[in-house]
Amino acid sequence: MPRTPAETDANARFTPNRPEIPESEWNDWRWHMRRRITSVKKAQQWIRLTPEEEQAIDKLAGKYRWSVTPYYASLMDPNDPTCPVRQQAIPALGELVEFTGAEVDPVGDMFYRKTNRVVHKYPDRVIMLITEACPVYCRHCTRKFHTTDVGGSYFRDNEGESFEEDLRYIASHPEIRDVLLTGGDPLSYRDGKLQEIISGLRAIPSVQIIRIGSRFPVLLPQRVTDELCEMLAQYHPIWLNTHFNHPKEITQESAAAVDRLLRHGIPVGNQTVLLRGINDDVTTMRTLMTELLNIRVRPYYLYHCDNVTGVSHFMTSIEKGWEIMEGLQGHITGFGVPQYVLTTRIGKIPIAQPYFSRTHEGLLLRNYRGEEMVVDDAIHPITERDAQ
Ligand code: SF4
Repeated sequence: MPRTPAETDANARFTPNRPEIPESEWNDWRWHMRRRITSVKKAQQWIRLTPEEEQAIDKLAGKYRWSVTPYYASLMDPNDPTCPVRQQAIPALGELVEFTGAEVDPVGDMFYRKTNRVVHKYPDRVIMLITEACPVYCRHCTRKFHTTDVGGSYFRDNEGESFEEDLRYIASHPEIRDVLLTGGDPLSYRDGKLQEIISGLRAIPSVQIIRIGSRFPVLLPQRVTDELCEMLAQYHPIWLNTHFNHPKEITQESAAAVDRLLRHGIPVGNQTVLLRGINDDVTTMRTLMTELLNIRVRPYYLYHCDNVTGVSHFMTSIEKGWEIMEGLQGHITGFGVPQYVLTTRIGKIPIAQPYFSRTHEGLLLRNYRGEEMVVDDAIHPITERDAQ
């Protein structure tokens, strides 16, 4: 049966422009990849572009990559340019503004890069930037330089290219026990190529956990097939972190993709980026975190948006981040509260405000309602002698 806009999920109400598409095609991720939106004409089949959006698409051509899956386009409000899904995927003129202090590589990938794809920043773990391809090129991507910027990519991601040098580096550093596959989006590769990379890592005895950073569960959940999950499950422990930024992105399809991963023993965490005009309010964040728990995704990080070239217009203040964290901590289930962090060249730094301070009387504690109490024994622990 062809799907109609009124069916299937709550977000269908946002998709009056979606053409009728046979179920077999809609559920096939390759169909979506082949029909990605890359031109004004194609975008107009889904949304009513504003003159500013059209201008941005035109001016950014040749500078930043742009593509949107039909699935993700179906979540957009066709009439509202402030739609949180639309702002993440449709180019904006803000990407051309040179903001003070903006950098192309604020997290220091270039500095810590050891091989074509391996970035070794922390002692016991590395990231492998295995591809620059993504199903949707998110306008706020921290790695915009590697993924979206047409001239900025520094590594090769040809499927035919060998990963030997990268695997050799990891094998020759036995202190590396954790490898994060990222990019770009690793699930852009076909299953066979992905298996080749993962089995290569599994053959290294010192590698304990393999993590995958993928936004496919959000941008094209149909990619998370049973076949893919079965392949990944052969190489446990495998973990996957995804990237939901707004409750509108939680659909029947994305929940089903998460369910498939979980049923194959792959824990799913979420990394949200705090984005101006998209999720920078307490109500949206509370809904997002509680809805993630509903689909059994564990909120992991809330990233402060970095001052990345072409992304700065999405930045909020740290004070805004604190306000949101205050609106989460104590108000929702504890494990639904992500860690608020800033990514820097010296690593991820937790930046939430503390709920305590030292005073002469002891430790002054504050709860989520602003109530306070002093605990003196917390800073004067029992001595070894007392314990005997
Ligand atoms: S899918 Fe991830 S890597 Fe790709 S553009 Fe989006 S945020 Fe960046």
